[in-house]
Amino acid sequence: MQYRTHHCGELRIENVGQEARLSGWVQISREFGGLTFVDLRDRYGITQLVFNQEDDSALCDQARELGREFVIMVDGIVRERSNKNPNRDTGDVEIEVKKLSVLNASKVPPFTIEDESDGGDELRMKYRYLDMRRNPVKDKIIFRNKIAFETRKYLIEKSFTEVETPILIKSTPEGARDFVVPSRMNPGQFYALPQSPQTFKQILMIAGFDRYFQIVKCFRDEDLRADRQPEFTQIDCEMSFVSREDVLQTFEGMTKHLFREVIGQELADFPRMSYDQAMHDYGSDKPDLRFEMKFTHLNDVAKGKGFNVFDQAEAVIGICAKGQAANYSNKDINKLTDWVKRPQIGAKGLVYVKHNLDGTIKSGVGKFYSDEDLKEWLTAAGAEQGDMLLVLSGDQEATAKQLGELRLEMGRRMDLIKAGDFKPLWVLDFPLLEWDEDSGRFHAMHHPFTAPKHEDIERMKSGDHDAMKALRADAYDLVLNGAEIAGGSIRIHDRALQEKNFELLGFTEEEALAQFGFLLGAFEYGAPPHGGIAFGFDRLCAIMSGSTSIRDFIAFPKNNMGRDMMIDAPAGIADEQLVELSLKVTSE
Ligand code: ASP
Repeated sequence: MQYRTHHCGELRIENVGQEARLSGWVQISREFGGLTFVDLRDRYGITQLVFNQEDDSALCDQARELGREFVIMVDGIVRERSNKNPNRDTGDVEIEVKKLSVLNASKVPPFTIEDESDGGDELRMKYRYLDMRRNPVKDKIIFRNKIAFETRKYLIEKSFTEVETPILIKSTPEGARDFVVPSRMNPGQFYALPQSPQTFKQILMIAGFDRYFQIVKCFRDEDLRADRQPEFTQIDCEMSFVSREDVLQTFEGMTKHLFREVIGQELADFPRMSYDQAMHDYGSDKPDLRFEMKFTHLNDVAKGKGFNVFDQAEAVIGICAKGQAANYSNKDINKLTDWVKRPQIGAKGLVYVKHNLDGTIKSGVGKFYSDEDLKEWLTAAGAEQGDMLLVLSGDQEATAKQLGELRLEMGRRMDLIKAGDFKPLWVLDFPLLEWDEDSGRFHAMHHPFTAPKHEDIERMKSGDHDAMKALRADAYDLVLNGAEIAGGSIRIHDRALQEKNFELLGFTEEEALAQFGFLLGAFEYGAPPHGGIAFGFDRLCAIMSGSTSIRDFIAFPKNNMGRDMMIDAPAGIADEQLVELSLKVTSE
């Protein structure tokens, strides 16, 4: 053992009297009488070192020179501590050092390497290697590794084969912009980085692999909303000869396995809900089921009484905030109204109805509605005395979305979201196509390879525009605590139907052939029925560990501008390189 006989988290009371050699980083050093104490840290823990002035003053002087984050190696004897530290696994012992070697000095780190650091985000990203020495960051990376390991274990046991697919490819449409890479050898041509390995995994099914998975980087050049990374990791999977049910069972099983093995949580069978139901009840295709607060649709009882705003609205929808009537003064209601009017939410106003504890009813729209009218609303919403109804109105889709946001906000304010609570949900039967008013064409709601539900195939072939809007896809999302953690579908495996889908999506025949001819061609050589799913791995890690941010589960994340602060990328390149890549004609 050149550098160590034990690591810094290893020594216990049983080791007392033994010789030990440890290597690691100096966390802190302090003096106390004639003694110098040093906390020595490595990935596994911290062990206390002690240097005694009386025993060896030269050695003690050497120890006093040590700065934070110096890398040292020590030899010594394990001793029982007189003053034990019960918060540390190694807290019963210390090493009485006989020999000290400095393996490398360190500059003073720009922030403290403690669980609570004094460093700001950008600084910590710049010195990511120092940040990763801190337990909270280190533990998350190790946690991620556990999930990856258990994922592989589960899938390989179920006969999945992990296959690597290429990174330099052609566009695979998942609805984002591509990152592109110029090809030096093919001037003027570009590779696209995969938004997902979608087409390759389908080709693997045609190649007969039967069950594929890959823990794989995907790249999407999107405007970076909070907590999105331009490169992220998926657990990407595909299976042959499967129905939707087979895929759901397999991956519900995987999710349960991960929760059981990694965090010791038994998940009950996952409920299922159609997309339509989710939108109707929660105004979201990823409802957070950690609390109830379903929508109440009030059109029947709220319209036609002379309140213009509601009369003209396509939808009047409310939620019931249990027990909140007494908690919201007029001022609080005004603040909440401002909250829903913020541009991020975009509601025009907010109507409340309080069913006070004394039985009286109070509402901002009381002059348009009698108590009898308002009681009907309260009854429809299942409100009891003490509850408060919050109502939004307007265009159906926008109102449902706004109220969905308000529901989440009320869930947070009312403290209905409990740490350690996990509520998975399968959302099924998404629309196949989405009509985009701006571009005047359909978009694939999932991606262009998703099959319509079996019973919708004939309608899809019929070509009637309105019928297209009603087509349902054999697609599914796994939602966990209000976040989409996986999505997938049964695929089209028939060339004619795939061509039809491209046509509906506005591809000309030539475009479809140029972009996806290889897949269409492969469909003609015995493509089996197949389907699959992909999990957002970074987000799964974050949610499983109860964190809201994915950034620390990624060893080297990018900031909100898509920059890697440590290596300072992206960066310009030399003129010669631009010329070589045919991105510039001559070098200046
Ligand atoms: N390729 C899809 C995605 O990245 C997942 C799938 O359909 O399997 O969302």
